[in-house]
Amino acid sequence: MSEDIFDLIIIGGGPAGLTAGMYASRARLNCVLFEKMMPGGQVLFTDVIENFPGFSKPIKGPDLIKEIVEQAKRSGLKIVNEGTLKISHTSQNGHNFIIECDSKKRYKTLSLIIAAGAVWKKLGVQGEENLIGKGVSYCATCDGPFFKGRDVIVVGGGDRALEESLFLSKFTNSVKLVHRRDQFRAVKELQERVFENEKITPIYDSVITEVGGRNSVEFVKVTNTKTKKVEIVSCGAIFIFIGIDPNSATVKGLVNIDEKGFVIVDKEMKTSQEGIYACGDIIKKDLYQIVTAVGEGATAAFNAQRYIEGLKNKVF
Ligand SMILES: Cc1cc2nc3c(=O)[nH]c(=O)nc-3n(C[C@H](O)[C@H](O)[C@H](O)COP(=O)(O)OP(=O)(O)OC[C@H]3O[C@@H](n4cnc5c(N)ncnc54)[C@H](O)[C@@H]3O)c2cc1C
Repeated sequence: MSEDIFDLIIIGGGPAGLTAGMYASRARLNCVLFEKMMPGGQVLFTDVIENFPGFSKPIKGPDLIKEIVEQAKRSGLKIVNEGTLKISHTSQNGHNFIIECDSKKRYKTLSLIIAAGAVWKKLGVQGEENLIGKGVSYCATCDGPFFKGRDVIVVGGGDRALEESLFLSKFTNSVKLVHRRDQFRAVKELQERVFENEKITPIYDSVITEVGGRNSVEFVKVTNTKTKKVEIVSCGAIFIFIGIDPNSATVKGLVNIDEKGFVIVDKEMKTSQEGIYACGDIIKKDLYQIVTAVGEGATAAFNAQRYIEGLKNKVF
């Protein structure tokens, strides 16, 4: 396969990349998708999805992904389990880009879709780094069940923080939901469910300033941003949902990104570099959801197809 010149290489096998791959394969482009872990992206770590159209009952994240992967493969999408390390731009020998993978294998392609998604942001406070996996977590679905009957802290005020608080409240003793502002920005429906839940206590205008414990999390320091009062709160775990950092290191310098590292695209999902498209959580946008990621994936593939066809008519 390493000798082929692909029409299209897709980097990242979350909902955005898989949908782009499905559309590209149905368009019979010579396309391959590289995924460094197993396909699914962040959805693999999501307990239930309640806002993806087509399911009248909540669907488990891994179950939704299984369907999307099977659908993409049925369309003929090739998925390679490898991370991509480096992208070089070249205009020689009938291809535009060379991709180097973690295994050092190199692949040539006419165009690219970057769908590498994002990872969870860290608080950056004392104790956080040392206690990751020992009570500091960024995934309630993965780690929550270890804290059955315990008191836990959740940090954040968006949809994800509230969803995960509701999930944790099913088996923990209590959830303190610490948010730096005086109201949540999550959708009203989630807010209503949180306010009705007796196990969840919102703590507004507050930030975590330290995570403490010898071998595992034992307490956090919560500082009120208005009064500056510091409170030590005992807990067994802290779950952090304060936003995402885009996985854009491989495209830095190649396409325009904003000050936070999100890739800038136009409405066709085109980046500043001709032949490179981007979609999903890696791009600068307003709504970071599965439904937007899949729509952008389809748009990116459609426009990459038009670009490739134009290129073939012109050059070859
Ligand atoms: C806990 C949680 C709950 C959520 N709940 C909801 C919800 O209820 N509803 C909703 O709509 N959205 C929800 N979201 C958000 C949703 O999961 C994301 O918006 C969506 O997954 C974005 O898809 P994506 O394909 O852009 O990126 P991702 O899902 O981040 O996938 C990117 C993929 O790219 C791969 N990758 C990265 N770099 C490379 C590389 N160099 N080479 C190869 N592969 C690479 C990664 O391994 C990953 O698999 C939730 C997210 C989380 C974390």
